[in-house]
Amino acid sequence: MRAAAALLRHYLEYASAELCHRLRAPVEFRGDGQYQLGELLPAAITHMRKLHMRAKEAANSWNQKEVIVHLAARESKFALLAEASKAEQWQVNAAVHFNSWDNLVKRDFEPVAKAFRDLLGGFTCSDCGEYLRVSPDRETPESVRCECGKTNINLRKRSESLGS
Ligand SMILES: [Zn+2]
Repeated sequence: MRAAAALLRHYLEYASAELCHRLRAPVEFRGDGQYQLGELLPAAITHMRKLHMRAKEAANSWNQKEVIVHLAARESKFALLAEASKAEQWQVNAAVHFNSWDNLVKRDFEPVAKAFRDLLGGFTCSDCGEYLRVSPDRETPESVRCECGKTNINLRKRSESLGS
């Protein structure tokens, strides 16, 4: 179980770093680059939520009702995945912290591993399966998109694009 827990931790650490990079999630800077899972995954989740909100505001400003409905569905699905993973509770609830995975029996570890697999799925395009990214990768964010082009979520509000 220890090995399985360590493997999941390492995998999530790698995936979370990739997500924070792609989504441009704010993380406290470390000159040594030694980021821990607890610093990365909650930041990625929080930032994804912010991106959903920003996208909804943008769609609202363009009066794109269908897009708003679509985004709301995406948002609530993601919220359920985040909740099931309990990653956002790591700081306040030691019992669900990733360091406690070592003490779980197999029966209890399996749903934890599944919850995180599902959570990572919430950061991907349902078509190509790639992690989403914020474009461009510097300066004002314009969209959340994937590699295949199917997922392309606008982040720019009407007033911004008119420069007012
Ligand atoms: Zn795609």
